Amino acid sequence: MEFSGINIKEVPGEKAREILRLDSEFMSPSLTRHYPLVVKRGSGMYVEDVDGNVFLDFTAGIAVCSTGHCHPQIVQAIKDQAEKLIHMSGTDFYYELQVDLAKKLIDVSPFDSGNVFFGNSGTEAVECSLKLARYNRKRQNIIAFYGAFHGRTLGSLSLTASRAVHRRHFFPLVPGVFHTPYAYCYRCYFGKTYPECDFECVEAIRDILRRVSPPENTSAIICEPVQGEGGYIVPPPEFLPMVREICSENDLLFIADEVQCGMGRTGRMFAVEHWKVVPDIIAVAKGIASGLPLSACLADKGIMNWSAGSHASTFGGNPVSCASALKTIELLENGLVENAEKMGKLLKNRLMELKEEHDVIGDVRGLGLMVGIEIIDRDGKPDGDMARKIVMKCFERGLLVLPAGESVIRFMPPLIVGKEHIETAVDILKDVLRSLSVS
Ligand code: PLP
Repeated sequence: MEFSGINIKEVPGEKAREILRLDSEFMSPSLTRHYPLVVKRGSGMYVEDVDGNVFLDFTAGIAVCSTGHCHPQIVQAIKDQAEKLIHMSGTDFYYELQVDLAKKLIDVSPFDSGNVFFGNSGTEAVECSLKLARYNRKRQNIIAFYGAFHGRTLGSLSLTASRAVHRRHFFPLVPGVFHTPYAYCYRCYFGKTYPECDFECVEAIRDILRRVSPPENTSAIICEPVQGEGGYIVPPPEFLPMVREICSENDLLFIADEVQCGMGRTGRMFAVEHWKVVPDIIAVAKGIASGLPLSACLADKGIMNWSAGSHASTFGGNPVSCASALKTIELLENGLVENAEKMGKLLKNRLMELKEEHDVIGDVRGLGLMVGIEIIDRDGKPDGDMARKIVMKCFERGLLVLPAGESVIRFMPPLIVGKEHIETAVDILKDVLRSLSVS
């Protein structure tokens, strides 16, 4: 059933309150919910909660439901495949869908030829990249960035450096990881201003290789082309080409973690295309299969040279997820990537206009439909409390957005989003800012 628009009665309603009670009794308390949304159904740009409240979704289930909720063609592809074969395990057996999807991913990737390993989640794609880099280069160390989020399993967590809460009490992590500042120009780590900064963040990488982790002991640099959980940070044009150059000069592998920014979200199939940079390994997940669990580690020709048995997964690349991914990529190629670029520009422009009226918005940034606003206090410092308050008020008015970084509100709607949805979302945000009396 299609939804005609936002419809809010009471949030959370009676049914939601009961589920929240059971959740607090039985679910792991480690999960981070920002508001009491208890979802029952989704269609296109909208989700309905258990009490019949309808919300406009600018989260896409954390950048996953790229084709919108329950796209009819995706649902059909899943149903058709579920009737034929649900699981057999690509680790021990062959099936056509897995090969078809691997071929398709390489075809749409920046690689001329290459290989694919399938997992079930973003962190598995990153684990695969990390293990592959060590295996291929026979070197232990790896360089990652502050603000990065690469996942929560111990290997990926060792690379993640966005919040202490992710790492607290989980040490020791994987050794040999060296973190360095990302090109976060709005709050330059070195207190410099782009472009007169002499790219100190790039120099810092060279410093690690000079002083701390010599190239002979370093396998790779892992980088999110647009930092996601760190606060939707788009590096300046020179940054990624410079990182690529450092990798090439020092025989390191360049791993692009496109789990959040890949699969069309930034208005290109892969975000690295914006910079015409070709990595050696790319990790993708989230938006790849419209909500079914699937991830992929793509490697340029010759890099995936590990032997049989060195890496595998029971569920990775299951047939139903592969069918959903093939249909997702077809939809992305037939207009959704283009729509992400077009609608992303509109969204950013509208938010820029809002920034002119409200000092609380310090920065508007993003690529395609990966857009963030940084909320600041009177002194220009990140105001996380205010960001969370705004997110909550948006929820109460029927708009779903999520925070990121210290004080960023991120907009990552399904790639089917239209002009009317963007106007509604920005109007709600405007209303919320007025209601909070923030100038
Ligand atoms: N890498 C990036 C860039 C991510 O944004 C995320 C999740 O937000 C991950 C990896 C981990 O993905 P998952 O939660 O599917 O393990």
